[in-house]
Amino acid sequence: MTDWVSTGHLPTAAVVQQLVDEAHRRFTPVEEGELASYIPALATASPSHFGLCVAATGGQLFEAGEAAQPFSIQSLSKPFLFALICQAIGEDEAREKLGVNSTGLPFNSVLAVERSGEGLSNPMVNAGAIAATSLAPGETAEAKWAFIQEGFSRFAGRPLAIDRAVYASELATNRRNAGIASLLSEQERIWFDPVAATNLYTRQCALSVTARDLSLMAATLANGGRQPCTGEQVIGAVICQHVLAVMVTAGLYETSGDWLYATGLPGKSGVSGGMITVAPGKGGLATFSPPLDEAGNSVRGQLTARFLSERLGLNLFASRSEGKA
Ligand code: GLN
Repeated sequence: MTDWVSTGHLPTAAVVQQLVDEAHRRFTPVEEGELASYIPALATASPSHFGLCVAATGGQLFEAGEAAQPFSIQSLSKPFLFALICQAIGEDEAREKLGVNSTGLPFNSVLAVERSGEGLSNPMVNAGAIAATSLAPGETAEAKWAFIQEGFSRFAGRPLAIDRAVYASELATNRRNAGIASLLSEQERIWFDPVAATNLYTRQCALSVTARDLSLMAATLANGGRQPCTGEQVIGAVICQHVLAVMVTAGLYETSGDWLYATGLPGKSGVSGGMITVAPGKGGLATFSPPLDEAGNSVRGQLTARFLSERLGLNLFASRSEGKA
């Protein structure tokens, strides 16, 4: 399956490790950004935590800093949920039901749902992700949850559990997402009870992961859907392509254009401070650093992704000038 994918390879292991270490050294002193506080449990994070991990599609890991520090996955769940839903119902039906175009608006925008007329957004923002959650196979919330938790664990290559404090904290303050789900329901763009779908979405956002886990999850998307360490084919290779396309369009919400301009790669951010970047055919990068910019993207995460995209030669749009002078 890979012989027609002309994406090159990572530099040698020694070079990758040296650049990962350099990124950690370089961006540790950065102090800009604010912790997310609209979910009270996230406001207690330590702004100095900074970990990163690159996972190659061959399964080698290159880490620096707090790569084993657990945190809640938050919006980094969205590409993996979309992948699992595409796998379950087919990528065409998933696109028809959820939409794949950028909203140009913040991740929790209600206006985005209203404005599209038919309730479409994309699965990288809350509205599309809550709608995607409602499409998880199973008649009951518990059956849907089992599908989601097992699917995420297959991406990570180990069983993932919930951070109960974060889950309780977000459930207690989740009025905006509840409003989005109820609007989707009015527009017939949600396929399960809206309150139950919102709770499931919130539960999935509270799954506890590390940068190491996320790098392997991202590397699975870089590897045609096969988990580099377990060797399991978690989703089909073609589904990976669609997931990465939506990450490019909307992974960093209204700042997705700035991100693509800087890195030339699909990426995704989350409000707990995680970020993933996918280099198709090569590997996945995950960072953890809680201080965020105004759009809710980790400040150190973005700097690291830009630096490593350049220095590891990952930008998908880069080419050499060849041929006649
Ligand atoms: N659980 C968060 C929310 O729904 C996820 C948002 C994010 O990480 N951007 O608001």
